Amino acid sequence: MFLFSALPALLARPLLQAPADPAAEVRHLLLDSRRVGLPAGALFFALRGPSHNGHRYLPDLYAQGVRLFVVEEGAPLPGGLAAYPQAGFVAVASPLAALQAVAAAHRATFAGPVFGITGSNGKTIVKEWLTQLLSPDEDICRSPRSYNSQVGVPLSVWELLPDRHTLGIFEAGISEVGEMARLAAVIQPTAGIFTTLGTAHDAGFASGQEKLLEKLQLFQGPQFKCLFYCYDQAPVRHAVASQQLPGFNWTRHPGQPADIYFALDQSTSGSTSLHARYAGAGLEAAFTLPFSDEPSVENALHCLAVLLHRQLEPAEIQRRLARLHPVAMRLEMKLGRHDSYLLDDTYNNDLAGLALALNALARQSRPGRRTLILSDVLESGLSGTELYARVAALLPAAGVTRLVGIGEEISRELRISNYELKIPATGEATAASKTGEANPLLITNSQLLINTYPTTEAFLAQLDPSAFAREVILIKGARRFGFERIVAALQAQQHGTVLEVNLDALSHNLQHYRRQLKPGTKLMVMVKAFAYGAGSYEVASLLEFQRADYLAVAYPDEGVALREAGISLPIMVMNPAPDSFGTLQHYRLEPEIYSFEMLAGYLAAFPPTASPGPPIHLKLDTGMRRLGFDEADLPALVALLGQQAARLPIASVMTHLAAADDDAHDDFTQTQLAAFRRMATALEAALGHAVLKHALNSAGILRFPEAHFDMVRLGIGLYGVDASGRDSAALRPVSQLRTTISQIKTLPAGHTVGYGRRGAASTSERRIATLAIGYADGYDRRFGNGAGLALIHGQLAPVVGSVCMDMCMVDVTHIAQARAGDVALLFGEGLPLSELAGRIGTIAYELLTNVSERVKRVFVSE
Ligand SMILES: *Cc1c(COP(=O)(O)O)cnc(C)c1O
Repeated sequence: MFLFSALPALLARPLLQAPADPAAEVRHLLLDSRRVGLPAGALFFALRGPSHNGHRYLPDLYAQGVRLFVVEEGAPLPGGLAAYPQAGFVAVASPLAALQAVAAAHRATFAGPVFGITGSNGKTIVKEWLTQLLSPDEDICRSPRSYNSQVGVPLSVWELLPDRHTLGIFEAGISEVGEMARLAAVIQPTAGIFTTLGTAHDAGFASGQEKLLEKLQLFQGPQFKCLFYCYDQAPVRHAVASQQLPGFNWTRHPGQPADIYFALDQSTSGSTSLHARYAGAGLEAAFTLPFSDEPSVENALHCLAVLLHRQLEPAEIQRRLARLHPVAMRLEMKLGRHDSYLLDDTYNNDLAGLALALNALARQSRPGRRTLILSDVLESGLSGTELYARVAALLPAAGVTRLVGIGEEISRELRISNYELKIPATGEATAASKTGEANPLLITNSQLLINTYPTTEAFLAQLDPSAFAREVILIKGARRFGFERIVAALQAQQHGTVLEVNLDALSHNLQHYRRQLKPGTKLMVMVKAFAYGAGSYEVASLLEFQRADYLAVAYPDEGVALREAGISLPIMVMNPAPDSFGTLQHYRLEPEIYSFEMLAGYLAAFPPTASPGPPIHLKLDTGMRRLGFDEADLPALVALLGQQAARLPIASVMTHLAAADDDAHDDFTQTQLAAFRRMATALEAALGHAVLKHALNSAGILRFPEAHFDMVRLGIGLYGVDASGRDSAALRPVSQLRTTISQIKTLPAGHTVGYGRRGAASTSERRIATLAIGYADGYDRRFGNGAGLALIHGQLAPVVGSVCMDMCMVDVTHIAQARAGDVALLFGEGLPLSELAGRIGTIAYELLTNVSERVKRVFVSE
């Protein structure tokens, strides 16, 4: 129990305003006004970042019922304190530091052991595996997914329940000097694992050594007892020795003075056998790991070292190792049948995982019903009744209207206790248990419909996919329920070619560009052409969540589709047809106006007697020579604005650069920018007020920081392609195009391949793989005859002969393990778009936007 009244002493600050309830208890830590969930007991921290200011959301939070706040000293509160009667406020120098202090104080109430995990790679896997391996002995609280940041760690540690858990396992990730000491103060580990020391790029650190020493800061303090690490990582070994950290280490090389020696005997596909010698415990035993790839073996050895140190019986260790399974950490979003939309999440189905998946559901703006298909929730330590009451409490905030429960336990709990979910306006859900007879279909209140099935097979046997029409469906099941069968039954396209769009990479790229902007500069994001082929709705929805200021599309239809999918951000339409103004007004879409004819059309469409038209964006042509008013048009434009100012709501004035990406033309670019400044000044003088001005695309944002004006227009950079030629390492690739091998043929010498026999004969035998992708999927025909490459089992396979409409052929003679059904990557990690585009004389923009709508889009996020 943590009382709000404890904060002044903890944070050394007096109350700014006392809450109505002096004994108010803090039950949840809240950072995001979109994730309030249960407002009672929520303590909101108003964090501030380069593009984010939590104080802006105070009125919204207050309206949702939140009453406890930590704000920044001196920060203006919207409406003043008087706008929040009954709410408790503490003002501190840093709300982030306060969040960490609250979590640290909570951690200190837990007397059990806590593992801290850090390293460059493998943190999340090691955390998940260690949890799997120790869960027979312990009741474990661990960080959900990869919550390892300055805010993720305090939120994770807050979940530790001193009267229930027996072990905590938390991961810590850092990107700058000084961060680890703060995470260490929150986690207060008693044991630790250092996974690997990678060579991942070291921005934020002067050297690899500095980064290593920073990471080791996690393992400090009198409570810290034992660091598990690999002896073969020399820098780690030396640093541990020089700091005299208490440690336990393992080596893979014979004759080293390490605590454990692992001798890897044999590695076949999918398993590795080894011998472990732990001299200290007089133990020698053989184990088999259910993995053969190097990173998995390394991660598993860290866990094995911990189990041996705990002196578990080797036979028991082997039983647990055999059950280790790969960790799926991704949420996939895909189109379903009957206009439904699937969120497929196979991450562990416990309460923390469910809460995260429900957050993703809450973020969807698509209209329609929201269904949760949920298996038994695997959470040790809670009774069924309490567990499903907690599950029920998570549902209202995500807007779930239908719950399909699959499994013996969930069926029993939902049925026997005949849950009545009371969801009053405050959002405080309670599950009241009534004694009622079994009822497979309970309409417990007007908001939630519940169906239960004992098994996945029972559900599939009765499944009518049309009963899941026009709705968003979250599918969340523990592994053994095999929910991939449900996904397959509800999914729209089954064609094996996929464009996978990584939404985390998209967010990463967005933040990268945001960091280039001065505070207050707005960000418009181009989602034209189906968001550069990635998928307009999903990208727009993410941008709305990430609080972009504006979206832009090329044509009215694109804007209408976004509105119909529930997107509410302002949207600029760059090329509206003259007859579309009514549609634009109806859908709140804002036209770009680039000629006198359009201005006249706009004024005619919205006469003074009718309701006013939508805001407009004036396009000025300063050298692109495509669309826009020329400088010579300015006097006439100024005169017209003078007459019609009241009827022309000008949202912005803009221009577009012809060669923002090319320093050979920088002089020309400067003349464009100078012309824009002159013209915008004249227009503002005519209007009598300032207007929003913008000129730069992705390349321009990086190359001309002095010309950001009030807003910038981000395009290709968001999608992971560096158009400025100076920043590619900072961006993450967003899209992967991949397909499967349909068949492999062994061709004797002298045989040709494909149409026109253009795949010339060879003098030796070849293995040729036919891929299920062709130019109708957007795989450019110019990739024929060796110009294109596919990546199969990590090796390059050149295209042989012509690309056909639905297929193409590649040479896999040198890739012995290639088989029908294997995946072939056509662009993405390892096959950069810009390089492929160069091979056929085009640009990345064209490759991205060409991927046809026939190709299934799958959106993933961690
Ligand atoms: C497409 C477009 C952009 C974005 O360009 P990128 O090179 O993709 O960043 C910006 N402004 C206008 C007017 C555009 O048409």
